[in-house]
Amino acid sequence: MSNSILVVGGGFSGITAALEAAELGYEVYIVEKSPFLGGRVAQLNKYFPKLCPPSCGLEIQFQRIKKNPNVKFFTQATVESVAGEAGNFTVTLNVAPRCTAPSSANLGELAESLEGEVSDAFNFGLSTRKPLYMDTPFGFPNRYVLEKDNLSKADKLKIGSNAHCDLNESEKNVVLNVGSIVLATGWKPYDVTRLSNLGAGKIKNCVSNMQLERLASPNGPTDGKITRRTDGKAPKKIAFVQCAGSRDQNHLNFCSYICCMASLKQALYVREQYPDAEVTIYYIDLRTPGRYDKFMRKVTADEMIHLVKGKVAGVESDAATGDVIVEVEDAVKGEKKKVRHDMVVLATGMQPSLAGEKNPFGVQLDEDGFVIGGEAKGIFAAGCATKPLDVMRTAQSGTSAALKAIQTVRGR
Ligand code: SF4
Repeated sequence: MSNSILVVGGGFSGITAALEAAELGYEVYIVEKSPFLGGRVAQLNKYFPKLCPPSCGLEIQFQRIKKNPNVKFFTQATVESVAGEAGNFTVTLNVAPRCTAPSSANLGELAESLEGEVSDAFNFGLSTRKPLYMDTPFGFPNRYVLEKDNLSKADKLKIGSNAHCDLNESEKNVVLNVGSIVLATGWKPYDVTRLSNLGAGKIKNCVSNMQLERLASPNGPTDGKITRRTDGKAPKKIAFVQCAGSRDQNHLNFCSYICCMASLKQALYVREQYPDAEVTIYYIDLRTPGRYDKFMRKVTADEMIHLVKGKVAGVESDAATGDVIVEVEDAVKGEKKKVRHDMVVLATGMQPSLAGEKNPFGVQLDEDGFVIGGEAKGIFAAGCATKPLDVMRTAQSGTSAALKAIQTVRGR
């Protein structure tokens, strides 16, 4: 029997599960596939319930990890295989090379001097970045990542002479023995290129809700200014298209739970930046469960925020002006219309990260990729691996999975 617990996923839910178990004295390993912990929350401008910036909640969690020797974590790491049973799993990880030394916190100048540029996935392709980078100023671990495959010849020469970089580091396998596993693999935004009637990601001034989070974020590609991608102008008339891909048999056949709240929150971002801007939210149903109803009433009391009940049939761009034209059927007035906007935001939904990916854990997934089994084996799913959730509920779910994992390693 092993008393150790493996947490797969270093987002809010996984970090919470890991800390809950570690602070009770259990050895915990976090495995995160990206180079930094923090998950989707790190990409937000603000999050519910208090609308704090992500640094506020995450920095506390990172401090707790730093102070607790029971937590060990692997970044750029994936689970290759899982063998054994509850109480005694052998897990093999593949860990990609980071190519920088642990003490390399100050490689900013070197990074800036490199000529290579790659699309920045953290900003959902809204900007480029250097092949030596940190995602955010509060990135954890506070250690640069070097992508050696994206270096030019000249960049390689520069890097080669820096004592804090190691171009020879290669990937490795790590084998862990653990008693229980928490799957906190999180979610990915639904792929907008599949939404052909909504521009398929090709209309520059039609962005996804996660792209808008990056535009509004002070550490995002526009330093927090919400502007049009084509000309950098401030939008005066902006629309949100709800259920973009969700509640649709051809895409996500469920309600993504958070995107109505996200659009209401983002309408506030716009109104705070541009007091004369007009916001229209096109919706089928506006879902603001529990205490969030109050928030909805507060936001919609603003007379510059309009709600239009109606399904959007399509969006197209006006190449001459960069405007985006929304075709909608207003369900209340019973009329079809085309409305011109400076910018459109698609309220895209949550797809579980495990959808379409390999599943070395042998747990049962539903048709959408959410985990629906595994408990009998000592594997417990948490957060958005189980269903669409907000940050607060994902943390609660992490705590509950930690408790079950502890019960397993204690043989209960
Ligand atoms: Fe549609 Fe709102 Fe549900 Fe998102 S939360 S899928 S926008 S109803």
